[in-house]
Amino acid sequence: NIPSGAPAELGAFLSLNIMMLNDSQISQAPIDFIEKEFCNAEWAIKLQAEHLSLQFDEMIDTYLKERKNDVIQVLERIFKNLEGNNFDWNNQGKLEKGILVTRDLSPADLVQFKDSNFAGFITDFGSLTSHTAIVGRNLDIPAVVGVTNARQIIRDDEIIIDGLQGVIIVNPDKLVLNEYKKRKKEWQESRQKLRSIRKNVTISQDGISVELLANIEVPEDVDDVKYNNADGVGLFRSEFLFLSKDNHIASEEEQFQAYLQVIKAMKKLPVTIRTADLGADKNPQWNATHGAADNPALGLTGIRLSLAEQGFFRLQLRAILRASYFGKVQIMFPMISSSWELKQAIHQLDLVKEELREEHIAFDENIKIGSMIEVPAAALSLKGILEQVDFISIGTNDLIQYLLAIDRNDESVNYLYDPLHPAVIKLLNHVIQSANKEQVPVSICGELAGNVKLTRLLLGIGLRKFSMHSANILNVKNIILNTNIAELESLVSKILRSENRDKIYDYVEKLNQDLNLF
Ligand code: PEP
Ligand code: MG
Repeated sequence: NIPSGAPAELGAFLSLNIMMLNDSQISQAPIDFIEKEFCNAEWAIKLQAEHLSLQFDEMIDTYLKERKNDVIQVLERIFKNLEGNNFDWNNQGKLEKGILVTRDLSPADLVQFKDSNFAGFITDFGSLTSHTAIVGRNLDIPAVVGVTNARQIIRDDEIIIDGLQGVIIVNPDKLVLNEYKKRKKEWQESRQKLRSIRKNVTISQDGISVELLANIEVPEDVDDVKYNNADGVGLFRSEFLFLSKDNHIASEEEQFQAYLQVIKAMKKLPVTIRTADLGADKNPQWNATHGAADNPALGLTGIRLSLAEQGFFRLQLRAILRASYFGKVQIMFPMISSSWELKQAIHQLDLVKEELREEHIAFDENIKIGSMIEVPAAALSLKGILEQVDFISIGTNDLIQYLLAIDRNDESVNYLYDPLHPAVIKLLNHVIQSANKEQVPVSICGELAGNVKLTRLLLGIGLRKFSMHSANILNVKNIILNTNIAELESLVSKILRSENRDKIYDYVEKLNQDLNLF
C-alpha cells in the first residue's frame, strides 16, 4: 500500500520495481545460478548483481548506464529480505553463520568473503596451494577445498568443517559435535597461549636469528601483520589490486595509495612488493584472450605478461617507486625463468627511474631488487640471477607445480603435490646454499614457509627468512624458539641423501618428535 500523502512518483517507482522483479534477469537468472553452482539464494543474487553491473558498465548510452543503480538496489533489497528470513543460527545454538558449499571460488571472490554472511566454505574444485585456498587461509576462514562431490551430498545440513585435517562432517551426532566443540576450544586456547610470544625475538636455542615475514594480498591485511609482530612484509601479492570484479585496472594513484597504506603501517620495516603476478588462476578480464590458453600456467603469466604489456608494467613500477620514498620498499619480480628475462625487467625499472628523475619525483634510489625463484630453470641457473639482485624469494607453490608437473589447482593430482619429494628438497637445498654462499638474502614465501611440520627441515638446510600468512607466524616462531639448529644436522643430511619417500617422512617425523604439532 502506498501511504497517503506520498509523492505521486512513488506509484510509478513501485511499478517500475515490480517490472524489474518480473524480468527474467532477476526472477530467473539467480535460479539458474543456484541450479548450476549449488549455491544458496543470497550468493546467487550477489553473482547476478555482479554480472548485471558489468553489463551496465559496458553500455555506451549514458542514460541506460545510469539505470544500473536502480537494478542493483532492487537486487540489494531481495538480498536483505533473504537475510532477514534467515534461519536464526544463534537461537539454534549452532554456528553463527552459514557455510558456503560451491563448485569453486575465485581468489577475487574470497577477498570479499569476510564481509559476507558465511563462516566457512567448501568447494568441489581446487587444491591446497590454489590461490583460493591461500587467500582463505590468510583470511583465517575455515575451509576444505577439492572435495569433488560436496554439492551433491550436502544439502540443508548441519556441517562441521575441520580445515586442519581437511575433514567435513555432515549432520554430526551429539558425541561428534561435543568432540569438535572441545577441539575448537583447545585450538583457540593454544592460539591464545601463543600470543605470549608475540614480542619475543625469533632466535633458536643455539642463538641463531631468524626473520619471520608476512604475506599479504590487500592493504587491509597489514593489521594482522602488525598484530603478529612480523619483521616485515615478505610478499605483497600486488596482483589483487587488478582483480576487482568490475574489470577496473587500478590507476597509478590508486596503486600508490594502496602501497603507501602498507608502507606507513609497517613504519621502517621492509615491504616487499611483488609486481603483478597475473595470469592462470589470477587472470583479469582484460586479459581474457591470453587467459583462455590451453595451459595458462605455462602461458603469459607473471613477468611475461608485464613485459608484454609494458604500459601497464611501467605504471606499476612508477607507483611502487614513488611509494618507496616513504618507507623501506623492496621490489620483486614474479615467474622469472632466466637471467636475461630478469635483465629485461630491471631495464624497465631503470627506464622508469630515469623518467621520475626527469620529472623530479622523489623515490628511494637504493631500492632493493629481488627475484622470485619459482621456475625450476631459474633455480638451476642461479648465478646470473644472483648477480643482478639484492635478494631472492623462493615461491615453492609454483616451484613444486613446475618441478613435479602437477597443476596446483587440480584436485585430481593433489595427492602428488608433495613438498617432501626428494627432488623438491634437493632443489630447495641447492637454491638456499647457493644464495647463502653468495651472501644474497634468501627467503621462502610459498606455503611451505608456514607449514610447521617443515620448519625444522628448512632451518636445517640453512633457511633463515620465512614469509607466510600472518596467522602462522606465531606457530613457526614457537618451533624456532624450541629448536637447536645444530642438533638437526645428522637427520637433515640423511633426508638430503635419501630418495625413499617413507624414510624421508620418518626422518621428518623424528625431527619433530619432541613437538606437539597440531
Ligand atoms: C609461490 O608460487 O610460491 C608464490 C609465493 O606465489 P603465488 O602463490 O602467488 O603464485
Ligand atoms: Mg608463484
